[in-house]
Amino acid sequence: MTSTESIIYNYSMERCKWLENISRGRVKERAKSIRERLLAGDKGRSVFPSFVFMGTSRCTLKCKHCYGLIPNFTDHYDISVDTIKRSVKTLLLGCDELITAEIGGGGEPMLYPQLIEALNFLVSQEKIDFVLFSTNGTIPANDKLLDALDNEKCFVLISDYGVQQNTSSLIQCFEKKGIDFCYNTNQHWVDAGEPVPQSKTIQQLTAEFANCSNTKFCKVVIENKIYSCARSARMHLLGVYEDNHDYNEFSENCPPDEINSILKSCYNKDYAVACDYCNLASLNPVYVEAGKQPGKKLSNYTYIHRDACHDISRLSRENQELVAEVQRLLDRRNKRHFLSAIVKFPERLVRHTIIKPLKTWFKNRQNAGKTINTCELESRIRELSEQIAQRDRTIVQQRDSRSTD
Ligand code: SF4
Repeated sequence: MTSTESIIYNYSMERCKWLENISRGRVKERAKSIRERLLAGDKGRSVFPSFVFMGTSRCTLKCKHCYGLIPNFTDHYDISVDTIKRSVKTLLLGCDELITAEIGGGGEPMLYPQLIEALNFLVSQEKIDFVLFSTNGTIPANDKLLDALDNEKCFVLISDYGVQQNTSSLIQCFEKKGIDFCYNTNQHWVDAGEPVPQSKTIQQLTAEFANCSNTKFCKVVIENKIYSCARSARMHLLGVYEDNHDYNEFSENCPPDEINSILKSCYNKDYAVACDYCNLASLNPVYVEAGKQPGKKLSNYTYIHRDACHDISRLSRENQELVAEVQRLLDRRNKRHFLSAIVKFPERLVRHTIIKPLKTWFKNRQNAGKTINTCELESRIRELSEQIAQRDRTIVQQRDSRSTD
């Protein structure tokens, strides 16, 4: 194996491990078995970790610190599904296996008018193991999309940007259909800054490029160009900068061996000129609130883990006096947008932040001979939820003040 091949191999393993960690159902099982197969030796097969196929520049949000610069686009565009199909077909000629093919690179894929056709096409490619997209959770899924996603290869990453009502209903649709997804809450972004040149030295560019996770898994394909990252692709589209150092170009007429070399050369760059226009991988990162919408307040109710609902149910079962009250509360959760959000909190954290204090509260009430009132229970959970949100805000503030010191 050359050094570039071992980098690609390690990224492929890492990609499988990542999917294994964040998924739950059939995707988890498949990711595990693919990782184990790679670990056992890939017998000279050319496996690549990830390519992202750009679909649209549209978005329902205008996040203040969007690293993909979506709010900077005034004229939106969609890349036709035929163009995506052509890119995929050509690119696959140069590899034996692609762990993840993603529709994205900034923008909201659920606004991409040909998303379903693109997903169906990607899923039908034998060489592609998984098909992903990330959504901001603001758009309901229709039946056709749910049918397309109902596949062992499909996985959706839902971001928690505080649009709790819509996100909760999207999650419920996915759950009902058995679609594998993860809900990314508690995210902290790094401010990538304005897309202006900063005259960084080659050493700085090299250090930041090496420090950026986008270079591993976010190589963005637009037509016949593979960009180092989504920011680089978006800046090219915006005309912010023009530098052919940052992309590799292939053509439909290239023989498979040549395409394979082109794909490999995407992974042996030392730096990207784009990093001069970006602080995402700065060695002194400035952390900012994820998905912040100028002038809008985020919901505070996205912090309760579904397991907390289960645990509360269990606690209530243990205490017959509570059963009716808690059950009523849980049954009403969709209507009230309460306890319906699902987050991937580590179990221990949930126990300490929600379950343990609730248990103590239940016990104290019982010892005092008081019955449990639904409204009190609800406001107690809300209080705990707010405490977690406050703790997270404090972490962000502390990081911010550390980075400005
Ligand atoms: S421009 Fe550089 S630092 Fe910014 S996302 Fe791309 S690779 Fe990372």
